[in-house]
Amino acid sequence: MTGSSATLIRGRHVLTAADPAVVVDGAVRVVGDRIEEVGSFDELSARYPDDQVFGGPNDLVTPGFINTHGHFSEALITGIAKDRTLWEWVAALIGPVAPHLDDEIAYVGTLLGGIQMLQSGVTLANDMFVCDPRPDGPTTPGVVRALDEIGMRGIVSFGAGDIRGAKIEDIMAEHEALASAAEASRLSKFRVGIAALGAQSDELYAESLRYAEGQGVHIHLQEIREEVTQVRLRHGVTPIEHCARTGLFESPTIAAHCVWIDRQDRRILADYRVGVAHNPVSNMILASGVAPVPELLEEGVAVGIGVDGAASNDRQDMIEAMKVASLLQRVHRLQATSLSGRDVFEMATIGGAKALGVDEQLGSLESGKLADIVSFDGDSLALANVHDPFGSVAFVAGSSEVNRVWIGGEIVLDGHDPVRVDPLEVAQRSRTLSKSLLEKAGVG
Ligand SMILES: [Zn+2]
Repeated sequence: MTGSSATLIRGRHVLTAADPAVVVDGAVRVVGDRIEEVGSFDELSARYPDDQVFGGPNDLVTPGFINTHGHFSEALITGIAKDRTLWEWVAALIGPVAPHLDDEIAYVGTLLGGIQMLQSGVTLANDMFVCDPRPDGPTTPGVVRALDEIGMRGIVSFGAGDIRGAKIEDIMAEHEALASAAEASRLSKFRVGIAALGAQSDELYAESLRYAEGQGVHIHLQEIREEVTQVRLRHGVTPIEHCARTGLFESPTIAAHCVWIDRQDRRILADYRVGVAHNPVSNMILASGVAPVPELLEEGVAVGIGVDGAASNDRQDMIEAMKVASLLQRVHRLQATSLSGRDVFEMATIGGAKALGVDEQLGSLESGKLADIVSFDGDSLALANVHDPFGSVAFVAGSSEVNRVWIGGEIVLDGHDPVRVDPLEVAQRSRTLSKSLLEKAGVG
């Protein structure tokens, strides 16, 4: 009945992000692309002696992490313009680079960023590719091709804006090209990207609204104080209120950042079930501010964690982002109880899945869900002594302890190396592309 494809993924601690939260000396049984059962390793291995066993008695096993916000469009421009705030950084770097991003850069950049995410346990990346439409064909399908090649799930969007002069018909064509690529993919799904309210004319925003119906939305909202002022001057309300009034939130929406939000904004997010992607590292690098994460959680908003793009973070490391999410709240509030290791672990798993509306299938280790699973090396020095497994994932482990990753039951990272792509070749290919991109853009 079970066949030879069944596997047992074993660990000293299996953290489920469900109930029970921890199974000690446990295992996850995977059949095909699904989790069949989570339970005691001794019991499961006695019942299914023919299953192939992965992992050892000291390992930590978790659900795959869900990176709720990022930009593969920034993968080749890491480490530049690090002393600027958001709008200065956009003017100095993102704007000049955007016209020169093409399908090949999208493909290689996604391989480069995607592999790093995978090495930190990410199994689903919610991406917004920010570029200008090109006359020689669409750019964003390269993202889907690369994710398929790595074996990683994606929720892909094109971060549309027309303030730099792009034509609305060309923008809609780019959305359509990405939507078709995602439709043809086993692992990617499409959402409508809106770079920010301030990046779109009223005409483009109206088109975005129309196109978003029945599809999801990925948007930046209230990342910096200036953005709130700008939209208040233009529309008389906050960006969040404007989205609610115009009907954008009728479509499932994930909003990145939500740093400069008040009580009424929080209530709107909760009422419309808008998910929030919290990006602590980029918020700190760009000096944007501290998102009120505990208040959002208290209001019942689903909050996930994002690594954000490689030009504003710059490390594509979900475990680092989890740790920083906790530390940022603590130092900001001078309160050591603010966001525990378990809080940030849940944000990185089931919280992110809820924020993206995929929690029926992903985000926890439960029978019937897709088998997206991470195994941490229990024989590593960092994890030699685990006293609080949530704290060990959030504060002790780094991406170097991520040993194996399964996506849909398939091993895509083994011994910290991606199985389906050669990382050295990707790094080599990215160097040539990055150099010519910066030359064309006139930055560097
Ligand atoms: Zn962003």
